[in-house]
Amino acid sequence: MNLSEYNGVWVYAEQRQGVLQKVALELLGKGKGLAQELGCPLTAVLFGDQVEKLGEELLAYGADQVIYVEDKALSHYSTEAYTQALCQLTLERKPNIILMGATFLGRDLGPRVSARLATGLTADCTDLHIQEETSNLLMTRPAFGGNLMATIVCTEHRPQMATVRPGVFTKAAKNHESIDLSKVEKVSMDFSQLKDKVRFVEAVKELKQTVDITEVEFIVSGGRGVGSKENFKILQELADALGGTVAGSRAAVEAGWVPPANQVGQTGKTVRPIIYVACGISGSIQHLAGMQESEYIIAINKDDEAPIMKVADLGLVGDLNHIIPELKEQLLLAKAN
Ligand SMILES: Cc1cc2nc3c(=O)[nH]c(=O)nc-3n(C[C@H](O)[C@H](O)[C@H](O)COP(=O)(O)OP(=O)(O)OC[C@H]3O[C@@H](n4cnc5c(N)ncnc54)[C@H](O)[C@@H]3O)c2cc1C
Repeated sequence: MNLSEYNGVWVYAEQRQGVLQKVALELLGKGKGLAQELGCPLTAVLFGDQVEKLGEELLAYGADQVIYVEDKALSHYSTEAYTQALCQLTLERKPNIILMGATFLGRDLGPRVSARLATGLTADCTDLHIQEETSNLLMTRPAFGGNLMATIVCTEHRPQMATVRPGVFTKAAKNHESIDLSKVEKVSMDFSQLKDKVRFVEAVKELKQTVDITEVEFIVSGGRGVGSKENFKILQELADALGGTVAGSRAAVEAGWVPPANQVGQTGKTVRPIIYVACGISGSIQHLAGMQESEYIIAINKDDEAPIMKVADLGLVGDLNHIIPELKEQLLLAKAN
């Protein structure tokens, strides 16, 4: 394989029902920096039906160019059709790097594409850098149950592929000035030979009153130290006073005190709220992986040597059963004045 033929950073711009997913905008932010270091363009790649209008938005979020494939076969996600589209484009255009979100869709599409192109993929990366001497992509991710971070390099094959979970990088800044729509390119593709064994029947949207914890500004998170499901009531009251949401550690989720969708950490979600209140959470490396980028961390723990204290901006040492109601009262008082 002639590696020098491969050039450019691609971000797979995941959209659902015509709405760009936040992770795609986060990857554009990171991808921009990587492309600048390599001195190459940043390209957003978009698939779907009637998605052309999203091209302008992707340029506004920092893509130098947008390539999109529009077809009825792409109107709903299908492994075969999307794999064909990404493989065909990659073989024709030879990008050096492809980044995609570690979403349900990205986790299905990424490995399939990398296997078909006989290249490597590093899943669930927490950091990406360019190696100065070789210009290879350094892909960092937790290994051995999150106890150490491994940096993986794809030295012999191209493209270099990585998936990144939502919330790991910050969203690119939006700039609507000087957008050049000639940078949005439509690529025609023939899907008539597609051997798709899956037939799309119907998309059923489950209507649940859930909040996406990766989007909220204030999180009150509880761990094993909260002691019971009933006791989460005091966390909920504090969250209500803050205008935030309750989340938890894996221990709290496994105990059935917090829904799995609100688990913070390596196997949960990565959050970066303005305030993260960790109540009765020890601060295992797997938990920290999901919250240490929060702007302001308050830890409430009876153990002043708990690892959470090392990342906390404010550590409150004592029994959470006394501290949380007091904190809520003080907050309501401050709000009232
Ligand atoms: C592969 C792998 C993936 C994992 N993924 C995740 C993940 O995504 N998220 C995650 O959270 N964990 C994850 N874990 C589990 C992780 O290793 C820890 O076991 C877990 O985070 C511990 O949860 P905790 O802090 O709630 O409980 P503990 O570690 O038991 O800590 C409880 C804390 O509460 C304090 N406490 C007790 N009573 C009180 C009180 N009355 N007032 C104040 N403080 C009190 C204690 O001092 C202690 O610090 C993962 C583990 C593995 C192996």
